[in-house]
Amino acid sequence: MILVFLGPPGVGKGTQAKLFSEARGIAHISTGDMLRAAIAAGTDLGKRVKTVMDSGQLVSDDLIIELINQRILESDCAKGYILDGFPRTITQAEALEKLLKKLNKTLDAVVYFDLPEEELLTRLAGRREQEARVDDTWEVQKERLRVYKNKTESLIDFYQKTGKLRKIESSGSVEEVLAKVQLAL
Ligand code: AMP
Repeated sequence: MILVFLGPPGVGKGTQAKLFSEARGIAHISTGDMLRAAIAAGTDLGKRVKTVMDSGQLVSDDLIIELINQRILESDCAKGYILDGFPRTITQAEALEKLLKKLNKTLDAVVYFDLPEEELLTRLAGRREQEARVDDTWEVQKERLRVYKNKTESLIDFYQKTGKLRKIESSGSVEEVLAKVQLAL
């Protein structure tokens, strides 16, 4: 089972990807987590992406595509995986299609988590208090939302056309949203 979890920052897709991947015994691939781990470990990759990440911008398509390219070949991905935070641009989505085709695999579904902007802003404010992420100050969050609208939102239409999009209203408790995900898939 190969899935993409799509949605704006703060919508809760990371939490859902973690829970759903555990329930199904598939891998959870969060490109954001991979990059944060690289920064924490002080690797070359980490040094290259830190400034861009801290500002709320996207790191380059080439770099992320290469990262995914390698990651999905690892043994824990054999039974399937959830891509959380990838793709974020049309170029990345097209690269994913190509990559899967080469591996003789297909994307099963794209779960799109939707939430009214007001609720999104409330959740992001909560995250600022709880997580203290460098890229989660109010200014950077605003930038990440802007980047989402400019570069990522068009993926909804892209995947709608493939017939694979499953839209979920991401309001309610974590358990309630998980139940919706399970139903949709
Ligand atoms: P996330 O934890 O998914 O919100 O990602 C945190 C940051 O990592 C983003 O704001 C980007 O700077 C970077 N990032 C994560 N995934 C991608 C991606 N697919 N393409 C470009 N940049 C990414």
